[in-house]
Amino acid sequence: MSSPLVTIDLRIIERNARAVVERCRSAGIEVFGVTKATCGTPEVAHAMLRAGVAGLAESRLENILRLRAAGIACPMMLLRVPALSQAEQVVRHADLSLNSELNVIAALSQAAQRLGAVHKIMLMVDLGDLREGIWPHDLLSAVAQIVRLPGVAIVGLGTNLNCLGGVLPSADNLGTLAALAEEARNRFGLELPYVSGGNSGSLPLLLAGGMPAGVNQLRIGEAMLQGGRDTFYDDPWAALDRGAFTLSAELVELKTKPSVPIGRTGVDAFGRTPQFVSKGDHLRGILNIGLQDINAETLFPLSSGVGIVGASSDHLIVDLHDLHPAPRVGDCLEFRMGYGSLLKAMTSPYVHKELLQ
Ligand SMILES: *Cc1c(COP(=O)(O)O)cnc(C)c1O
Repeated sequence: MSSPLVTIDLRIIERNARAVVERCRSAGIEVFGVTKATCGTPEVAHAMLRAGVAGLAESRLENILRLRAAGIACPMMLLRVPALSQAEQVVRHADLSLNSELNVIAALSQAAQRLGAVHKIMLMVDLGDLREGIWPHDLLSAVAQIVRLPGVAIVGLGTNLNCLGGVLPSADNLGTLAALAEEARNRFGLELPYVSGGNSGSLPLLLAGGMPAGVNQLRIGEAMLQGGRDTFYDDPWAALDRGAFTLSAELVELKTKPSVPIGRTGVDAFGRTPQFVSKGDHLRGILNIGLQDINAETLFPLSSGVGIVGASSDHLIVDLHDLHPAPRVGDCLEFRMGYGSLLKAMTSPYVHKELLQ
């Protein structure tokens, strides 16, 4: 078996996706499946499509190209605000993009005219998370300018919460989004079919019955892929399974060593000052994976008796004092991953990937 390795259970992703799609459908909400944490893996996209997502959403054009090259023809949404330099590529390969800059939208308009296409725009509104988005106060004047541009059509308003600022979706902030959409419809005679109320982080509000009327689309990745490990951190949604991804890495060293470094200490390889608790001599292992592939804070050992000590670029150090039976060099240990480690492991060319159909 190749090591290190991420195995991806596509059946679990499909079941999770179906649970999300059906719950959303019953609330009048359509779902775009977000494959970015898997770098646009086509088989993962197919699992989401089998479950009934309305389309796919990706943060990077490279991933959209990968999905298109695999013959996937569904509606494709670009999540990250496009770079000015990529306007033509965006029009060529994405049906719809999330936008917040008039200059970029003007470039999309020009590219669309050159290509004889109409590119759909979802205008992003910043409701306080302070990542992307037009400030609510500036929205209507932005719409007034965009409706004059040929080659682009505003099809909705969207927002992103729960990311940079960790702002929780609420009836209040998402209600503002729906109200702004209504105002733009009335003022400009636009249809604005989509009000896109965020990512997996909006699902707890939906389940609690607090999603305001008018929100009719969500863009969901984490809940389908990771079963809401990060989204439903304190209060799991029983319909979702967190076991789709398993990371395994191989023990390359196994020795009993003191639990506290010996000698005068400074900073570690990354400029941090590490802290160690004195526990006497413990059996420690080194696994063949490191910070180039994961982060140590978002790795969760599957076996009890495995503790994470720390990691450098290429080595993950584990405390194996309590692991029974005693491991041997060459054994593999398995982990679940939080979003941070999943993103890195899937992006790392040093981590093999295996799909379970
Ligand atoms: C990543 C992303 C999503 C999906 O987020 P999940 O937490 O994976 O559901 C939705 N919208 C935008 C704009 C994103 O960047």
